[in-house]
Amino acid sequence: MKFNFSKYYRKDLNEKRWNLIENLKRREELSPKVIEAISILPRELFVQSSFSSKAYEDNALPIDCEQTITQPYTVAYQTTLLDIQKGDTVLEIGTGSGYQASILHILGARVFTVERIKELYEKAREIFKMLKLPIQTRFADGTIGWSQNAPFKKIIVTAAAPSVPSSLLEQLAIGGLLVIPTGERASQDMLLIEKVSEGNFLETKKERFKFVPLIGKEGWKE
Ligand code: SAH
Repeated sequence: MKFNFSKYYRKDLNEKRWNLIENLKRREELSPKVIEAISILPRELFVQSSFSSKAYEDNALPIDCEQTITQPYTVAYQTTLLDIQKGDTVLEIGTGSGYQASILHILGARVFTVERIKELYEKAREIFKMLKLPIQTRFADGTIGWSQNAPFKKIIVTAAAPSVPSSLLEQLAIGGLLVIPTGERASQDMLLIEKVSEGNFLETKKERFKFVPLIGKEGWKE
């Protein structure tokens, strides 16, 4: 791969990093290409520094503003469902640390990501700049999508939605895929939705997960 982030790795975490990758490789439902992307991105850069020694445990970890960076298994799972092809335009709702968006970029997507918390939006922009990742960012309520850049080949929501926002269905390209955790605040079903034709969707219910809430016009109230 053309990416080389080796100067950012904490060398004392090398063994933990390889253990995480070996464990992900044992899960047959995960794409090897996605695991390769995870293996090159230094996750220690995306978590709060006091948690960086735990960066390669397969858990969600705190970032700022009471939000979390998604668990590596879950990043791999959602990204596998998205089936990224080079050049796909991808919209992510919930930039958070910027980790998931970076994985999408490494896989060859043109990434657009939206975050509703200013502090996280700014911090993610700094990381993208430092790593030289040309990811488009927006500070806004992502439940209404990003209509100026629609349609998107793929859309990924990384926060828990009470139901599927209609704006996101509208902004999906024909033949495009939307991956979104939907359900109660306590836990959600991962939905994979394909836009077969205008107004015609194919929905598959996948595993259960637990995400922080998606808050906004077509999400949970504050
Ligand atoms: N993809 C992130 C996960 C962050 S957690 C990562 O890789 O680290 C989910 C994020 O969604 C939080 O940062 C939260 O602030 C954000 N979020 C919640 N509701 C949102 C909305 N309506 N629009 C945009 N971002 C939202």
